[in-house]
Amino acid sequence: LAGMLDPCRKMSNVFSRMKRSGVSINRIFELIDQKPRICDPPDPRPLPRLSRCLEFDNVTFTYPAGSGAPHRGPALRHLSLRVQAGEVVAIVGPNGCGKSTLINLLPRFYDCDSGEIRFDGTPISLAALDDLRRQIAVVTQDTILFDGTVYENIAYGSPHATEEAVEQAAAQAYVTPILSSLPHGIHSRIGERGKELSGGQRQRLALARAILRNPALLVLDEATSAIDNESAALIHRALRSYCEGRTVLLVTHSMTPTLLEFVTRIVVMDDGQVLATGTHEQLLGSCVVYRRLFQATDDLRVVA
Ligand code: ADP
Ligand code: MG
Repeated sequence: LAGMLDPCRKMSNVFSRMKRSGVSINRIFELIDQKPRICDPPDPRPLPRLSRCLEFDNVTFTYPAGSGAPHRGPALRHLSLRVQAGEVVAIVGPNGCGKSTLINLLPRFYDCDSGEIRFDGTPISLAALDDLRRQIAVVTQDTILFDGTVYENIAYGSPHATEEAVEQAAAQAYVTPILSSLPHGIHSRIGERGKELSGGQRQRLALARAILRNPALLVLDEATSAIDNESAALIHRALRSYCEGRTVLLVTHSMTPTLLEFVTRIVVMDDGQVLATGTHEQLLGSCVVYRRLFQATDDLRVVA
């Protein structure tokens, strides 16, 4: 009797655990079974690597109602923009003017309400999602890292990358200097969501991950916002050679001298539209919003 008591008690535990897992499993299956709103077209067109130009043609986009923020009308309004392959374009503009929204439309996280985005003339909505997303790497302000090693986090988007390539990407994004302070170098674990690293260090890791993917289109959405000015300048210098033969969109709220060396053209956005495009000198002369943005960051630097 005494010998049977313990196994019986354990059995009852198993039963309650099974019931609880059942509930969780149902919730997980519900999520897995959801049909994505964005899917492949029935007969996808081929989408070769971006080599001529990227176009936003009269794009209007409104966030679906009930997706968090109160309904406020279109985030992008009749926006047209043409970027030649190989350009490094900075997109600047005040908070909430639609810069990130513009970026989110590129990998088709959302589809435009009207208008079209074209890669070398092919509308992205007519191509397979895989073909499109393989060409794009996006680094955002909020990095998404996993509880693994630095190495695993960098190689996450490119499972077939060689060790040498991973190390090279780490060097280009200035991850290498971080490694000396970690116990096992590149094979150190970084904790859940990378909590053992600082904000700037996490952004560098995300950048290395993007570099390793070898994208035709590299998108940096305030990707160096948490990195100190000196390291950001080093990264921009390192990126200059890497970006040859690639197209780069760089969203930023502050133009620094090293950024000006890096970018070939600046696009000023305001209120869901493109206000002006041109070089730094042209815009300083002609665009009031740009002058204000540039002066604002200038003042900040003086204070700092
Ligand atoms: P920026 O990156 O230029 O600061 P965003 O593109 O993030 O601006 O935002 C443009 C507008 O769209 C803002 O008014 C913002 O409130 C709204 N917006 C952004 N993301 C969402 C979302 N997921 N759902 C609803 N509205 C959003
Ligand atoms: Mg943004």
